[in-house]
Amino acid sequence: MIITKQDIPNFLDSLKNNYQVFAPVKQDNYTMFKAITSGSDATLDYSNSKIPPKGILFPQTEELFSYKVDKQGAHLEEKIDSGQKVIFGIRPCDAKSIALLDNVFNNDKYEDPYYLTRRENTVLVGIGCSQPQNTCFCTSVEGGPFDTTNLDLLLVDIGDKYVVEVLTDKGKKVLTSAAASDASEADKQAAAKTKEGAAVVSNVNIDGLKQKLDSNFYDEIWDSISEKCIGCAACTYSCPTCHCFDIVDEAKDCDGCRVRNWDSCMFPQFTIHGSGHNPRPSGKERFRNRVMHKFKYFIDVNNATACVGCGRCIQNCPVNLDIREVLADIQGSEARSVS
Ligand code: SF4
Ligand code: SF4
Repeated sequence: MIITKQDIPNFLDSLKNNYQVFAPVKQDNYTMFKAITSGSDATLDYSNSKIPPKGILFPQTEELFSYKVDKQGAHLEEKIDSGQKVIFGIRPCDAKSIALLDNVFNNDKYEDPYYLTRRENTVLVGIGCSQPQNTCFCTSVEGGPFDTTNLDLLLVDIGDKYVVEVLTDKGKKVLTSAAASDASEADKQAAAKTKEGAAVVSNVNIDGLKQKLDSNFYDEIWDSISEKCIGCAACTYSCPTCHCFDIVDEAKDCDGCRVRNWDSCMFPQFTIHGSGHNPRPSGKERFRNRVMHKFKYFIDVNNATACVGCGRCIQNCPVNLDIREVLADIQGSEARSVS
């Protein structure tokens, strides 16, 4: 199918009749995913958003339930968000990250109804990356600028219009709101050309990396590669696959609510015990944990690398710590292939 760029605002406006619509919106020098009030709020001219859209499914702060205690006992009111949502313009790497989060919130041991209800009711409309950024390395971690993992629709830019690939029934349903027409042979060829031209220049060699990490927990390399880190957690807060959280009660007398907030393994308090002992006492252990979690532990548990190569941790680190260089250092200098 084909949809013209001119028709996108109308498409988004008509989706708003049945869905809460999130789209990339310009904000100062950044692009952020936001709930839009008008289709014309969305920007089509962007690379990666500053913060990934994971917060739409797993909010940075979220009330799980409220409670009141009276003479009759405790009364809970659960706050499950079952609204229908569309995330329009999500990049393939961010859509893939949601497949990884699914492992965390839905597995043999735990099912998280807050995440899963949102997930079930959300349609992912992707726009492929015609011009990946120089910090992108999705192709090194089993992704790609036009990867369709988890997407319901994929839009491929061919100039003043998009070729739309319909990937699921959910996608087919939302496309009925669009003034879409059939793609011609020339349109399909143009889409194929766009895909071919989308070069991801940054390459990271992860061959054998897991085996190295299996055996180098105590390697002295962690001292040098973690040295610059100031523990600010910008990397984890901007990472689409990071999912650590803390749960607190906010209460006055007997009434209150239970709230889940994003947390980060880069903070010293994250693993501190009630006794005062901290098994990750310095930045070295915390940095090692972040790398191990993405490239070893997550593979051990879920058989998938917990990095989609979006490059945000590279762009947002205030001391220019580059995960590509960290991985090359672990691999050994001969493996360095960062462009
Ligand atoms: S580790 Fe860095 S490059 Fe990988 S998904 Fe997270 S933010 Fe993106
Ligand atoms: S963004 Fe950089 S300095 Fe901040 S915690 Fe992450 S690696 Fe360390």
